[in-house]
Amino acid sequence: MVIIRGATTIQEDTKSCISYAVKRLLDAVFNENHLQKEEIDGFLFSLTSDIHSYHPAKAARESGYDFAPLFAAVEPNIDGGLPLCIRLMLFTNRTDKKNVKHIYQEGAKALRKDISEIYNIALDGPAGSGKSTVAKALARDYNILYLDTGAMYRACGLKALRLGINPKDGIGVEKMLPDLNVTVEYRDGTQHTILDGEDVSSAIRENAVSMAASDISTHQAVRIKMVELQREIAKSMSCVLDGRDIGTAVLPDARYKFYVTADSKVRAIRRFNELSARGQQVDFEQLHAEIVARDKQDSEREFSPLMQADDAIVIDTSNMQIDEVVQAVKAAIQAKI
Ligand code: C5P
Repeated sequence: MVIIRGATTIQEDTKSCISYAVKRLLDAVFNENHLQKEEIDGFLFSLTSDIHSYHPAKAARESGYDFAPLFAAVEPNIDGGLPLCIRLMLFTNRTDKKNVKHIYQEGAKALRKDISEIYNIALDGPAGSGKSTVAKALARDYNILYLDTGAMYRACGLKALRLGINPKDGIGVEKMLPDLNVTVEYRDGTQHTILDGEDVSSAIRENAVSMAASDISTHQAVRIKMVELQREIAKSMSCVLDGRDIGTAVLPDARYKFYVTADSKVRAIRRFNELSARGQQVDFEQLHAEIVARDKQDSEREFSPLMQADDAIVIDTSNMQIDEVVQAVKAAIQAKI
């Protein structure tokens, strides 16, 4: 399910103002999102307690939006809240969050600058720091896209391994590049990484691919190709991206930037548990050594190394539970809106 949000304010509490505002909001939500009747599961309105003159659900029905259940409820009266405000949550049976446009009109534009405009959240940090779990939680809670940029480099590394090319070999990798086609698709809000038409989302999680990804991502030509796609996606919709160079190189103007880190032993334990849960058997000491080696290579490479952006908020997750990290990131975002 994809939920589309909207809100508007009215000049005064009259039937005509309410009817006009509700129709205008719904028309915009439908037009901007190219919605069809069959895609709608329900309409949920809420209105501030200073609105009494007319029922928004009734106004919607009278404007022709009568093909799915409608419900409206009064919001609690919060000090400092926007007056005369009508909000909408539109439940759709779409599964793809791509290109969803939330509509904020009139005074309500001030309500959620974060979702009425396209914005990006950059989450950088070393392997196993918890960034992908945090990114997924943010994407779910804010109803925005999650772009796992590491998966793209993993797909590049996998291709080299399959072709028997050493991912460190710049000349071999350059030769492979014209035929390298990495894209991402979203099904049920989950990223699928596609390599030359094949869904490699599981294959790229093999432990052997991690180092190949780190090796291949040192080549500038590879990075240029991947970054182009990342920027294209990020400018078309709000998303949270995790990686190594998002806040420094891919999207230096991202509205929110975080650098998520943790002690290497803690990160190795997390990766070990993750791989074990997937049935992959690895030696802990070897895994720890690989993580340290990958950090070193990612941080010391010439092009777009793993680095904290000057304006990123640093979060050390060594002694934090994942929900505490998510709360810390959300509090920082909220403070900046
Ligand atoms: O995040 P993940 O472990 O899946 O990334 C695999 C590798 O891809 C990293 O070790 C890093 O070398 C590379 N990478 C990168 N830039 C990014 C994301 C990942 O160089 N934005």
